[in-house]
Amino acid sequence: MHFRNFKMVSYVVYGRGSFNQLDEILALQRKEDTPMIFLVDHFFKDMPLVNRIPLRGKDKIIFVDVTFEPKTKQVDALAQELKDEFGAISGVIGIGGGSAMDLAKAVSLMMTNPGSSADYQGWDLVKNPGVYKAGIPTLSGTGAEVSRTTVLTGPTRKLGMNSDFTPFDQIVLDPELTKGAPENQRFYTGMDCYIHCIESLEGTYLNEFSKSYGEKALQLCQKVFVDKNHWDDACDDQLMMASYAGGMSIAYSQVGVAHAVSYGLSYLLGTRHGIGNCIVMNHLEEYYPAGVKEFKYMVEKNKIDLPTGICKGLTDEQFDTMINVSLGMKPLWENALGKDWEKMMTREKLRGLYEKL
Ligand code: NAD
Ligand code: ZN
Repeated sequence: MHFRNFKMVSYVVYGRGSFNQLDEILALQRKEDTPMIFLVDHFFKDMPLVNRIPLRGKDKIIFVDVTFEPKTKQVDALAQELKDEFGAISGVIGIGGGSAMDLAKAVSLMMTNPGSSADYQGWDLVKNPGVYKAGIPTLSGTGAEVSRTTVLTGPTRKLGMNSDFTPFDQIVLDPELTKGAPENQRFYTGMDCYIHCIESLEGTYLNEFSKSYGEKALQLCQKVFVDKNHWDDACDDQLMMASYAGGMSIAYSQVGVAHAVSYGLSYLLGTRHGIGNCIVMNHLEEYYPAGVKEFKYMVEKNKIDLPTGICKGLTDEQFDTMINVSLGMKPLWENALGKDWEKMMTREKLRGLYEKL
């Protein structure tokens, strides 16, 4: 037996208004004459939050376009732009949802590693620690704030840069920043967390470490999306901690069927992570009966629109692409279905599932 020895985020600050401490936190990390770079979700352009970013010296805000999920090309271009303009930088601060945070992680790593970020998609391929990096979520659910990966779409695959150098040095968990996110988006990203919990708790890789975090995160998701009748500040507080705990749960287990199938959708159709997981989860009664029942209840209760028929009219070749991407996620399937998963999840069976979506 070999146990995972995993690297965690180094510093965590939590609380309403904790964003105001960013200046003092960053002061300790500034290297003479080199700037901090703030990669900010383009949603916040012209929003009051921008005026609260503690700019010093040559610091720069770059609004990142997250219309599409992060690409290796986008990461490489950002890192190159910073090298050309500044040579060296003190650090990268990602402010936004999972996409902006993942961009910050990846750009940090590409400031110190040669070549393209596509060269490092995989497990433990990153050679050098990146520059200082901090993550500040404005949506709760992905767990990107605690994970050791940054998910990128590259020329040949959608895969993370998974490494011990990938976790943030600092995260600032300020639930005020998630206030007012659109209901559908908040639900899709929140359900990413719910699904992390179900996949972790129902998986064969489960152990007490994952279970402890997974149960707590699940309970928090239920408080927010099952028990509450209208959204309030407590929901933002709870969902932010659910995301953190859900991320910790999968750090020591793995995700499962919904993620494996959803990766195929996002690779072929560009379906975003949160909504893709929801579209798939809706059809997984066979694998997660109780979780799917509750999921459907939450969709209804929160009056969420879930797209249907997204695989209508696809060609055999397109189905094959999705099936290949999905079946390539071996650890996810093994966690979900056990060592004999290949006998259970045949190409035909998976095709049948995609046709339903
Ligand atoms: P997102 O970051 O893709 O953002 C979704 C939309 O919400 C965007 O249009 C964005 O501009 C907007 N937005 C963000 N904050 C907002 C706010 N406070 N108010 C209004 N709009 C806001 O969404 P997400 O679900 O947080 O992240 C998904 C991304 O995270 C994907 O790229 C996925 O691959 C990645 N991901 C990473 C990990 C990891 O461990 N690294 C895990 C899961 C998902
Ligand atoms: Zn996820």
